[in-house]
Amino acid sequence: MFDAVASMAALCGQCRLWRRAAAAAQLHSGVRCLSAKFDYDLLVIGGGSGGLACSKEAALSGKKVAVLDFVEPSPKGTSWGLGGTCVNVGCIPKKLMHHAALLGGAMKDAQKFGWLVPGQFTHDWSTMSEAVQNYIRSLNWGHRVQLNDKNVKFLNHKGTFKDEHSVRAVSKSGKETVLTAENIVIATGGRPKYPSDVPGAAEYGLSSDDLFWLKETPGKTLVVGASYVALECAGFLTGIGLDVSVMVRSIPLRGFDQQMAHLVTDYMESNGTKFLWKCVPTKVERMPKGQLETTWRHLESGQEGKAHFDTVLWAVGRAPETKALNLEKIGVEVNDKTGKVIVAANDATSVPHIYAIGDVAEGRPELTPSAIKAGKLLARRLFNSSTELMNYDNVPTTVFTPLEYGCIGLSEEEAVRRHGEENIEVFHAFYKPLEFTVSERDSSQCYIKVVCFRNSEQKILGLHFNGPNAGEVTQGFSLGIQCGATYSHLMSTVGIHPTCAEEITKLHITKRSGLDATVTGC
Ligand code: FAD
Ligand code: NDP
Repeated sequence: MFDAVASMAALCGQCRLWRRAAAAAQLHSGVRCLSAKFDYDLLVIGGGSGGLACSKEAALSGKKVAVLDFVEPSPKGTSWGLGGTCVNVGCIPKKLMHHAALLGGAMKDAQKFGWLVPGQFTHDWSTMSEAVQNYIRSLNWGHRVQLNDKNVKFLNHKGTFKDEHSVRAVSKSGKETVLTAENIVIATGGRPKYPSDVPGAAEYGLSSDDLFWLKETPGKTLVVGASYVALECAGFLTGIGLDVSVMVRSIPLRGFDQQMAHLVTDYMESNGTKFLWKCVPTKVERMPKGQLETTWRHLESGQEGKAHFDTVLWAVGRAPETKALNLEKIGVEVNDKTGKVIVAANDATSVPHIYAIGDVAEGRPELTPSAIKAGKLLARRLFNSSTELMNYDNVPTTVFTPLEYGCIGLSEEEAVRRHGEENIEVFHAFYKPLEFTVSERDSSQCYIKVVCFRNSEQKILGLHFNGPNAGEVTQGFSLGIQCGATYSHLMSTVGIHPTCAEEITKLHITKRSGLDATVTGC
């Protein structure tokens, strides 16, 4: 619809009315009439979390907006629809598969609560993956409908900068279109990395881009890496009954509070995930019967190890997706080390009318809600007279491992590094979720800590929660911390009984005291 109208008329950037392009230019002679000069007020490259949010928000202000989204198939040939990483190969399939795994645990617990579960129960990968994939397809469709409803022009094309205001868009079939825009947003996200020094890595291994779209079970799996993606995937694969090993090069969950991270991996180990600590892979080969023989080296002893797996999953980090963009040509600066686009606080790149948001932007959290919020705020600043900048302080997050870990703010290590141990007070507790009692689950890793300043106000610097529904718990407390909550605010908060979250409002043992932090009774 937009194309047909655009050929006759343009939305005037000055008076916000649809006019014939020539008439609009005439009307504002002497004043620049944007739409007479460019096809669009805003062109977004990348239809993921950030790009979709930005484009829809801009369209709400009556702007003429286009989005390009194109998925380059993974080395294994996996591809998907509109919506970006989160929808297709990230948060959504991951959380649903995590839920599938939790249901298995709940079925075991159920028997203790009186449910008669007939016979052995096993998990069927293809039923789960088909259901998850169908849901994702409905989201892909929903995103298309939303763009259409908001009059955002969508092109399933890959974008490459031609010059500072024009982008060459190429479809799968090679059809080429050039679009011009006054403002351009780069929201191209990132893709999984493969190690370049491990023969057979890309040839035989998979990444998270493939895992969620497998039609058949991955079987016995080696997960290489020890951060969010690695531990979450290893967690749900173990939870649905697969034999899973995780190869950890250094520490788990780099950047997170290490006491919490080790409790997460302890819980995983006690639930059957195997860990190959301080090891790096050196080679992957396919055996005559199809299994993947993986060789590794122990970093301290230098000893070699070897085992056969059905699947090797690389979860060794993600690289920003900038290759196709031609950024050098138009002078958009990238960080040589990370490859990410360098941005100012207002998301502007080194070319002022070109912006970058989400995973592709340097120094931003790689999380969907922050990409969405950044995209909306950018659109409001561009087209709605707003001056509000995205606040990246105290962004909460949760690692959806079998025992979930939610946090906001500083880790204990980071608080000590920044402010000195003598200025930090840590309140902590080991607690037992009520639902773990009857089911006789081990609660050794259910732990909470709140990191505060030690001075009289005791402002909270970080909150860490290991336990069931950590995302739900952490989200609520993040409001308080965003509002500058102190330890005394926490103590004046009345708990909801019986919940795990209420334990946060009852923390009274300091780490410094050395007293037993185990919660006993209500
Ligand atoms: P993306 O969502 O990656 O979108 C970028 C889009 O641009 C893609 O569709 C891409 O194909 C397209 N594109 C790239 N180049 C071009 C081009 N030249 N032309 C046209 N289109 C192009 N975050 C959370 O908050 N919670 C979670 O639970 C969570 N779980 C995750 C689990 C996994 C396994 C992974 C990998 C990530 C997870 N994330 C999670 C992170 C989250 O998915 C990302 O932070 C988020 O998707 C980033 O959004 P974005 O808009 O920056 O990029
Ligand atoms: P990260 O960059 O966070 O972690 C990469 C991991 O791979 C590290 O453990 C690293 O070890 C290891 N590694 C890197 N190279 C090698 C190698 N050659 N051999 C062995 N191990 C290696 O990447 P992720 O992909 O896990 O996560 C990317 C981002 O996606 C996260 O930062 C997060 O923001 C987002 N995400 C969010 C989720 C959520 O909100 N729940 C879930 C999943 C992802 P080392 O520490 O030694 O470098």
